[in-house]
Amino acid sequence: MLSQPAWGSSVPGVPLPEVPCLRCERRVVGLGWGDLCADCLRERRRRASRLARRISLPATLLMAAWVFLAMPRDPGLRVYGGIAVLATYVIVNRIVHHVAMEYLPL
Ligand SMILES: [Zn+2]
Repeated sequence: MLSQPAWGSSVPGVPLPEVPCLRCERRVVGLGWGDLCADCLRERRRRASRLARRISLPATLLMAAWVFLAMPRDPGLRVYGGIAVLATYVIVNRIVHHVAMEYLPL
């Protein structure tokens, strides 16, 4: 069985190392190598959320237009169309946010 490395663990008496943030290079105690500090991570999440909103709104409008134009005028089907429009917003928003968190430049 492999043992855990000493750094980054909570071994009593061993202080956690100060690791530089990948983006701003500010040293933070307990940060993992290659990770972002809390401020940079918050900024990245904000940028990813803004991008996700900008992409998911037009996608939702396209879906709503398709539901309005292509679906029959049956009220029962309109309910499912509304659910599909709402699901489009949520799903596209989450996917774009996740991809943006992975691939946005630092
Ligand atoms: Zn940082």
